[in-house]
Amino acid sequence: MTLIDKKKEKKTDIWINGKKVGEDILVIAGPCSVEDHETMRKIVRQLKELGVDMLRAGAFKPRTSPYTFQGLKTEGLDIIQELKAEFGIPVSTEILDVRDIEKAYDILDVVQIGSRNMYNYVLLEEVAKMGKPVILKRGFSATVEEWLGSAEYILKEGNGQVILCERGIRTFETTTRNTLDLNSVAYLAENSDLPVIVDPSHGTGLRELVYPMSLAAIAAGAKGLIIEAHIDPDNALSDCRQTIDMETLKKTIDASRKLWRM
Ligand code: PEP
Ligand code: MN
Repeated sequence: MTLIDKKKEKKTDIWINGKKVGEDILVIAGPCSVEDHETMRKIVRQLKELGVDMLRAGAFKPRTSPYTFQGLKTEGLDIIQELKAEFGIPVSTEILDVRDIEKAYDILDVVQIGSRNMYNYVLLEEVAKMGKPVILKRGFSATVEEWLGSAEYILKEGNGQVILCERGIRTFETTTRNTLDLNSVAYLAENSDLPVIVDPSHGTGLRELVYPMSLAAIAAGAKGLIIEAHIDPDNALSDCRQTIDMETLKKTIDASRKLWRM
């Protein structure tokens, strides 16, 4: 019996920004990393104007090289807390380490488990116990079955609020940073109760592909998008090549909403 056959328990409703996930398109956007307070204020003000449902911004960054920017860490969480107080925007950030859960608990609305940690089962169990929605990114070499196995680690702790996030997988193709596997999105829309959102930023690594792949994701059955966006993408502290500007974000959101309603 596969995990998909087994997972027939009652579906849990997930609410973000007053919306039930799946009933309306969920739009999450923001910079790859939390940046200084002033830059973040300018970004969040624009995200609010565009009706973005939740801010994404990494305080703890799992970088390939330990010598590149690792995120502002707990100072980043403090900035997120101040932005929430000022703008009332829900926030999702990645937790890399169980030691950061306590501090993050009062600040985060949604916890992100990054691709590199999809197999970190102890972290999954501890994050599940926070009782908050979890965005579970697909490991970049994980099969759908393994991804669902990781989701089960959260579900079995009694936390049904799992949102799967397809963020591309590693293949022989190197033209794009990852290969955005929209097969998984269409497959899971048919075969799982868990909502799937798509990250076209990490899925492609190229900002010019974010718009078309966002639309492709919605067409494939994604319930939402998580997009890296910045007021000055070329100067974003991390992942600038895949980060879109606010104008492109507006165009992407408008077209995705239109497609959603079709
Ligand atoms: C991110 O969303 O900032 C991130 C690091 O993504 P991933 O875990 O998918 O690589
Ligand atoms: Mn990133």
